Amino acid sequence: MAEGFAQSSAEANMLPMPLPRLAALLLVLPLLAQRPLPSPKDFLGHDVGADHCLASYTQLQAYWKELAARSDRMRLQTIGQTSYGQEMLMAIVSSPGNLERLDELKSIARRLAKAEGVDRAQAQALAEQGRAVVWIDGGLHATESIAGQNILELVWRMVGRDDAEVRRILDEVVLLVCPVNPDGMELVAKTYGVTRRVGGLPVLYQRYVGHDNNRDHYLVSQKETEAVARIFYAEWFPQIVYNHHQSAPAGTVIFTPPFRDPFNYHVDPLVVRGIEWVATHMNQRFTSEGKAGVISRGGAGYSTWWNGGLRTTTYFHNMIGILTEVFGSPNPTALHQSLERRLPNGDYPLPIGGRMWHARDTVEYLQTANFAILELAANYRRRLLFDIWQMGDRQIRLGSGDHWTVTPRLVDAARQRRAEAAERREEAGGEVPREDESQPRVARRESEAVEAVFKDPALRDARGYVLPADQKDFEAAVRFVRALQKTGVDVHRATQGFEVAGKRYAPGALVVLTAQAFRPHVLDMFEPQWHPHDVRDGEPVRPYDAAGWTLALQMGVEFDRVLEPFGGPFEKLTGLCPLPPLAADEQARRAAVRLALYDAWGGNMETGWTHWVLQENGFRPELIGAETLTAGKLRERFDALILHAGLPAGGGTERAQRGAERAQAQPESRQDVDTLLAALPPFEDWNQVKARRGRLERDKVVAPVREFVAAGGRLIALGSQAAAVARLLELPLRAGTWTTGDDGQQRRTTNREFFIPGSLLRLELEGGRHLAAMFRGSSTAFDVLEPKPDVEVKVLGRWAQDGLLVSGWAHGEKFLAGRAAIVEARIGEGSVWLCGADAIYRGQPLATHRLLFDVLLRR
Ligand SMILES: [Zn+2]
Repeated sequence: MAEGFAQSSAEANMLPMPLPRLAALLLVLPLLAQRPLPSPKDFLGHDVGADHCLASYTQLQAYWKELAARSDRMRLQTIGQTSYGQEMLMAIVSSPGNLERLDELKSIARRLAKAEGVDRAQAQALAEQGRAVVWIDGGLHATESIAGQNILELVWRMVGRDDAEVRRILDEVVLLVCPVNPDGMELVAKTYGVTRRVGGLPVLYQRYVGHDNNRDHYLVSQKETEAVARIFYAEWFPQIVYNHHQSAPAGTVIFTPPFRDPFNYHVDPLVVRGIEWVATHMNQRFTSEGKAGVISRGGAGYSTWWNGGLRTTTYFHNMIGILTEVFGSPNPTALHQSLERRLPNGDYPLPIGGRMWHARDTVEYLQTANFAILELAANYRRRLLFDIWQMGDRQIRLGSGDHWTVTPRLVDAARQRRAEAAERREEAGGEVPREDESQPRVARRESEAVEAVFKDPALRDARGYVLPADQKDFEAAVRFVRALQKTGVDVHRATQGFEVAGKRYAPGALVVLTAQAFRPHVLDMFEPQWHPHDVRDGEPVRPYDAAGWTLALQMGVEFDRVLEPFGGPFEKLTGLCPLPPLAADEQARRAAVRLALYDAWGGNMETGWTHWVLQENGFRPELIGAETLTAGKLRERFDALILHAGLPAGGGTERAQRGAERAQAQPESRQDVDTLLAALPPFEDWNQVKARRGRLERDKVVAPVREFVAAGGRLIALGSQAAAVARLLELPLRAGTWTTGDDGQQRRTTNREFFIPGSLLRLELEGGRHLAAMFRGSSTAFDVLEPKPDVEVKVLGRWAQDGLLVSGWAHGEKFLAGRAAIVEARIGEGSVWLCGADAIYRGQPLATHRLLFDVLLRR
């Protein structure tokens, strides 16, 4: 209303103006206002999604800058720098009136999301004054190219259209639109320009971690992730986050939520309902517009169990995260239709027939999805704002009282108690109900035994966690709380010594209280994930990503779980907790290791993470390709060589398969390589990438690697490479999980027998130390075979015999229990270090990183 008054008083002021000046103004003003904004076609020369066209990030930047300069509905913000140093832009789109009060709207969104000190009446008032905040991104996975292009169309429609729906959205919503992987968008568009093929890049589309840029959202290690996390958890606190991906399940156009079970037990139930609510609205709009081929829930493997994706980490912050996976390519592609996909079902009520598909069709579908979300946000702005407060407030209350998060573990405990109660009755001779004892009474006694578990003080959720300052690896504790802080978790530090539950803590202890809005994230980072035993028809159902990941355990942080209410001389940290500096002599030791890391043409995520972890910790690895590795005389240049990918016959995992396919997609000739590299943006000296062409072939690898080790080199094999190296160097080891088949012969286990889809397991080291190590697809165990004269094998660590599972889900633990996990083989002057755990796992397990560092630094 205030803006309306301002306008009418401005008009009133104009009236006394002399007539000729007024006439001139009246002529000029409409011309200025009506000078049309350039459409994508005007600016780029083609429609968004036109056949064979991909706009680059440079083009997007230029276009958005032009629109922002000329539209009063749009502002641009630089939210950070990419890994290759480009500016990372975000468009803020809303009504001119809202754009004038962005700081106030941000502050309202923040107060509601954090909920602290805001009561119900205040929350209602804030919801009234605020605006819904909706985040929509594109291009996180840069080769999912049309999902990336779609935001150009979205922004254009929001600033260029003037219909009632757009005006209403502008009034009610602040829309944040972000190309979240600018480096990738540039690399893919430039490559496509010369190859007419999406992909086939010589390097990863995010400098270090490629596709795993969507696996980094609780560690927040990469620059792009950090920029996004700052917008989500420190600046804008969007109530809805929409993360665009490709590609759809075969024969369909798009996967949309809701998602299949299980969802994560730490997440607020209003998030689960919120996803359904938004998704239903989206699916309804697709069908209403007659857009066929939209599949949900059981139609794909996506779930809400896992934390760590751009979308999924929002769940632990009371935000509604939406993912879609759409079909599309800049090259027109046939959409083939199988007979199975013709029959509708509840998750797929409107099937699509076979036809030719164009990127423009994809862009249109994605606008339906975008506008469905924006329409809902405009219609239910107050509810969205109030609900995020409601969740935050509930989480603060849960953290301020006694609460029992129900997990399969807790249910098992209850089941156990019930069985014990029945046993006791049996011993007392009262098991069988007496004639006069009714069934309900027996049921009540059993129910009381069960209820007792949900009231057992020892099984309560924690009120907080204390990380002592005098722990062995305090740097790990600091790195851990920094990750928490980057995702908006409040962390305190003790200014003086204090005592809790009979234990004395020195000043400097770090304290994380659970009475905060983002309590689900706090619990998820400290507590084990107890994934349900999800087996159907004897076959384990693979979770969408890992089953367990507890970051505090991976990092080897010492902490105490406090179950009683507690306080102390605590101050809230206002900035990121400072990292303790690395001692100068340690720095020098690390920098002096002459270290080679094999990297393939096209890049590899495992290698990329290893590269990042080593650099982050002061090592200076040199990336070498097949040419250097097979040329021999490696010992002259290097002390250590790390293999994390590339060797043939690695582990046969899906990931290894994908890597192998990528390796096969190398350009045919030197000339093709030169053409490709010349087209790339000047992010680095691409000439050095040329040497990474070629594949590691068995016949060419064995001799130079054996020679390197015999001459005193240290070979380190991680992930799938551990088993591959054991085989190639014919070490007296057998890797993998084995059983005896019906024919009496040894064979590899099947998924029905052994299945660990990314879980933390207890690994016991020589000397009694133990740690939580990641076990997933490419991880393994070893048996030591008959000794060989020239090789001395030593087991340095074993998978625990008892209590193997620490977090996640393990099916068929007996196949690992007690077997070797880390093995060293001495050959000649050198050694081979094989790690059966995922020692690097997405940059997270500091505990196993330390083991690797020790090997690298050993004299
Ligand atoms: Zn994707």
